[in-house]
Amino acid sequence: MGRVLFINGGSEGHINPTIGVVQELISRGEEVVYFTFEDFREHIEKTGATVRTFDGQKFLKAFISGGRNYLLERINGLLLTADIVIPSVLEQIKGEHFDYIIHDSMFGCGRLLAQILKLPAINSCTSFAQTKASFDKMLDQLSKNIPTEIVKHIYDEFQSLTVMVKEKYDVEIHSPFEVFCNPAPLTIVYTTRAFQPFSEAFDQTYKFVGPSISSRLTQENFHLTAIKGKSPIYISLGTVFNQAIDFYKLCFKAFGNTDHTVVMSIGKKAQISDLGEIPKNFIVKNYVPQTEVLKYTKLFITHGGMNSTNEGLYYGVPLIVIPQSADQPIIAGQVANIGAGIKLQMQTLTANQLRESVDHVLNHQSFHKAVANIRESFQKSGGYQQAVDEIFKFKSQYDI
Ligand code: UDP
Repeated sequence: MGRVLFINGGSEGHINPTIGVVQELISRGEEVVYFTFEDFREHIEKTGATVRTFDGQKFLKAFISGGRNYLLERINGLLLTADIVIPSVLEQIKGEHFDYIIHDSMFGCGRLLAQILKLPAINSCTSFAQTKASFDKMLDQLSKNIPTEIVKHIYDEFQSLTVMVKEKYDVEIHSPFEVFCNPAPLTIVYTTRAFQPFSEAFDQTYKFVGPSISSRLTQENFHLTAIKGKSPIYISLGTVFNQAIDFYKLCFKAFGNTDHTVVMSIGKKAQISDLGEIPKNFIVKNYVPQTEVLKYTKLFITHGGMNSTNEGLYYGVPLIVIPQSADQPIIAGQVANIGAGIKLQMQTLTANQLRESVDHVLNHQSFHKAVANIRESFQKSGGYQQAVDEIFKFKSQYDI
């Protein structure tokens, strides 16, 4: 039996793929201590892991204080979370032994903790993977659109934060890539090589295990009987960039009082009452059991979060992707590249365009063919079971 330290400070999209992994690890005899925010305690405890927390409010405040406009500022934000995560984790595990660490690819300072604790490390990557070369290129390209003096200021800040974190915790940080992507001797990526852009750039330390979709173990207030046999359109902008009342109203305009049944999840930050009158063919909720709803869905209008995209394709649902932020434009582009859906722009979107796009995707066999292919490859890929097979191979390399 191995004792696993799991570190994950992310939003729901970073947590969900790990649920199946943790359940599977525990069913194969591992003991898992999972550090996350209090909000996810119930989710994770049901897997059988021991949950410990760090302060979510302080974490978010530190992350945001790095700045939100540019990627390089977010990297600084991640460095600023070190003081929230590291002392708290070290204090709570004092005197305990762990055999290895699994950490999120972005949130929770996993690479730093692995160094401090001298533990073999596994990176849990919930988006497309990045090599140092592809990340540096992206950073370079993004920096070209920022005034030079601002880039210099943010980069100086990066240097001084790096010095501070290195001295305080006696760790090595060589590049922004290390802070943002937390590379490790093994990286589990929750999609397939076929869907990953430039997949030939990744060596055998990257394992593309496919979507990790498992029962979420929490009860939602949603009656699936309302949609069974109705092949609804499902609309969601995920759990982060989802405050978009105007978009939700535009969906009413596009599909209200049509023959489509529409399920719309508007997120926990928006009020259903702010939407005005809800058309009779719409079911609007703040949150729905998405992986269940997708089993009945004929078309998914999504923001292109990595999980939503993986989940939609896993269940063979064509996508209309309207990216909001972060990695979503890249994911949307990849969906369009493989022919599994189309990408639309939020800024210029009209009700007509949305309605016509839905008709176009529903009526063209090519989308259904492409989706059927990717669905098959996703369902064959192994998901969380494959992830744990890889983790066990890794353990044996390290004599754990
Ligand atoms: N989700 C859900 N119900 C909802 C909205 C979202 O279960 O009503 C889940 C969804 O299944 C996915 C995650 O929340 O696993 C969202 O992750 P994603 O990467 O798609 O987007 P993010 O929320 O990170 O932008």
